[in-house]
Amino acid sequence: TPEAALVDSLIASIPDFPEHGVTFRDLTPVFADGPALKALAEALTAPFAGRFDYLGGLEARGFLIAGAASLVSGAGVLSVRKAGKLPRAVLSQEYALEYSTAALEVHVDQLPPGSRVLIVDDVLATGGTALAAVNLIERAGWQVAGFAVALELDGLGGRAKLEARGIETFSLLKY
Ligand code: IMP
Repeated sequence: TPEAALVDSLIASIPDFPEHGVTFRDLTPVFADGPALKALAEALTAPFAGRFDYLGGLEARGFLIAGAASLVSGAGVLSVRKAGKLPRAVLSQEYALEYSTAALEVHVDQLPPGSRVLIVDDVLATGGTALAAVNLIERAGWQVAGFAVALELDGLGGRAKLEARGIETFSLLKY
């Protein structure tokens, strides 16, 4: 599609970042381009039209996509934050990183029970982050409408993890 081609043309690939042997996909040029950010927001929400009430933005780059997707869809944003940032009562979901753990958090009472949340992020790799967000949202009493991501890194198992949990997954691009 033209949207996919536009976004693809703006993704920068950085060899050996953050460590040797890893190629980092940098979407900041997409965010810096107004028409591309809007096209991305439209492409990620269209497949789920009428099936979500909120965008779940994953800190930090997911926030940028969620904000843009909010304006094109009319749905508000659930802030899914890293540990220790939210000021009121939270639910917390730990997940494994390569050598440590991290946690995502939401305010327990942020959305009405049963709210349908479309989770959005920039890159899907192993799926650990996305799955933590799914677990968190379900534990909070909300429903996951799906997971929409700009770029899916194929062969790292992310999509399989999400689909095993019954989560509909859409990626605009696959590398
Ligand atoms: P996962 O948990 O292994 O699927 O990694 C996905 C998370 O790490 C997302 O929140 C991404 O923003 C981030 N991430 C992993 N790889 C990349 C990359 O190459 N570029 C940008 N973000 C990445």
